[in-house]
Amino acid sequence: MQQEFAFLFEKNSGLNMIPEHRYQTQPPERAESESLRQNGSRTIKILVYHRIVKNAGKENVCKFCLPEDEFRKHLEWLDRWGFTPITFEDYRIASEKRLELPHKPIILTFDDGYLDTYQIAFPLLQEFGMKAVVFVLGDRSIRTNVWDAHLKLPQVPLLDDNHILEMHEAGIEIGAHSMSHIRLTEVKEDRAWEEISRARVLLEILLNAPVLSFSYPYGLVNEAVKQMVASAGFVHACSVWTGPAFFGRDVYELRRIPILNSTTNSQLAVRVSNLYQYYSWLRWTAGKILRKKQRGYENELLVPPFHSIEPLHHSVSDYEKFKS
Ligand SMILES: [Zn+2]
Repeated sequence: MQQEFAFLFEKNSGLNMIPEHRYQTQPPERAESESLRQNGSRTIKILVYHRIVKNAGKENVCKFCLPEDEFRKHLEWLDRWGFTPITFEDYRIASEKRLELPHKPIILTFDDGYLDTYQIAFPLLQEFGMKAVVFVLGDRSIRTNVWDAHLKLPQVPLLDDNHILEMHEAGIEIGAHSMSHIRLTEVKEDRAWEEISRARVLLEILLNAPVLSFSYPYGLVNEAVKQMVASAGFVHACSVWTGPAFFGRDVYELRRIPILNSTTNSQLAVRVSNLYQYYSWLRWTAGKILRKKQRGYENELLVPPFHSIEPLHHSVSDYEKFKS
């Protein structure tokens, strides 16, 4: 293993599960001289998964529920094509120390903290020696996806503290997803602040480690919410279909690629391409401009651009229509 990648293995002993070949890179002298722009960080893609379910089960009715076999195929595909899953923490340290990133870095994220993340996704990630980031709620008394109850969706169990601790020990980054999966852009500022800042504090107490990444529930974000997330001490925050095309341009609105139960390997291949990322950004930007002209509204981040094509996590109504 090259010297500059030692940091990837220091924080948690569980990171040793990652095969060395993933981290072969250039000599240190070159790594130190290269800027982050040159080391490929701009092209980092972030995937967002929700549930990974047993194959052909009744559970597989929700569009966020990817069957286990399909998830395995995704990991096989990423492995075959040389992608290296990293965490936001890896990226942060690499940025600070001006280190070269691994080959074809990609970030796999899981929102909401469903129990199946531990039962199904985690063993597969370990089998492939891959890292991921799991965003969980700060309110540890919430035991099921109660925020979906009004959609008549089945209530499924969430991770308990022990699951979170075990994954954290094994090198999975734990991030915050607010206290109670609230719509941060639709509540009063003091409530939003509490949802954001308390989630960080409570998860840090649980892990006895820093919690520096955040995921906006429903992907809902505006400038005020971003400011609060930054003030609360988070270093990275993920949206879904909003934000700049390239990674790192706005660390508080990191665009992600949603993975649905219909996302095949070939679709995954298209979606992780630079061209697709740029195309998605262009479509979002064009939508913003069009809507501004047509309606003159201000809070454009809440409204999806072409939701008939990509309706995930743009607005609450779209999210609800989509999930039910
Ligand atoms: Zn969520």
